[in-house]
Amino acid sequence: MDFDEGIGWHDARIIPYGPIPMSPASSALHYGAEIFEGMKAYLTKEGKVQLFRPYENAKRLNSSAERLCLPELPVEDFVEAVTTLVNLDRDWVPTEPGTSLYVRPFMIGDDHSLGVHGVHHAIFMVILSPVGSYYKEGLNPVSILIERDDVRVAGKGGTGYTKCGGNYAASTRAGKKAELKGYSQVLWLDAVERKYIEEVGSMNVMFKINGEVVTPALVGSILPGITRKSCIQILQEEGIPVSERRITVDELLKALEDGTLEEAWGTGTAAVISPIGKFVVDGKEFVVNNGEIGKVSQHLYDEITGIQSGKIKDTRDWTLEVK
Ligand code: PMP
Repeated sequence: MDFDEGIGWHDARIIPYGPIPMSPASSALHYGAEIFEGMKAYLTKEGKVQLFRPYENAKRLNSSAERLCLPELPVEDFVEAVTTLVNLDRDWVPTEPGTSLYVRPFMIGDDHSLGVHGVHHAIFMVILSPVGSYYKEGLNPVSILIERDDVRVAGKGGTGYTKCGGNYAASTRAGKKAELKGYSQVLWLDAVERKYIEEVGSMNVMFKINGEVVTPALVGSILPGITRKSCIQILQEEGIPVSERRITVDELLKALEDGTLEEAWGTGTAAVISPIGKFVVDGKEFVVNNGEIGKVSQHLYDEITGIQSGKIKDTRDWTLEVK
């Protein structure tokens, strides 16, 4: 679908996957005018195909668009584009338990003049790819490197709360460093004071410290994850309060040292819940919960994947059947 200033969104179409024509002067290539979403379509045991909270992805895309001066896309058009494409061929949705069809909606600014300005021409696209189960042998705790040097996004006023391509380009180096050292992900600290915990890899992060579930507050530099929001709602409905507040790395280290850190886990569309078994900082390793999966992590994983796969009744209107 294309956007032109003065016309709006037009020409929705489905074309075979392949190279797309682009001007070498495109604003997407020169100035990083690109935003995206990540979501999944699941096959339920009744043979239905459903999406998880797609309206949340649509709203977040528009929040990213607003920040990058890209045109907003009506929420209904976003959902129609995604459902129409997924529904085109149901055989695209893999059938093995735990598998899904990854859906990548994205928008690029495609102005062909080299000036730095708001975008006059944009393209919105959706591509799909079947993905395997994130955990082939069940939930598996990961090890996390606390990153002291690289900064992923700027502080408040920057683009940390958006899903723009540039945020991910800037995170690659620390991710590579962690991988080379044998760790799965990086724990990101804030860019300004370098002491507040923000996110872990491409996930939000939650802790259970001294019986309390805590997660970094959305201070403008953290992506408002849809899995994070779902976890908070589930826990609160069960009478487990979740404190959204600033958490320093020193508070985490103290909780690791005195054993009050009971559990830690990442939340995101790819893994849903990623239990953390170990933190590594300044060359020192700290094991969490004896490297085992905690009760809250396991419960949240079972609940959310249960709703996505149709094993648990969706009482919150989170799923959308693809007609
Ligand atoms: N933070 C970042 C930086 C991410 O890329 C993601 C994945 N979209 C998340 C958090 C988790 O967001 P969600 O639960 O919506 O997938």
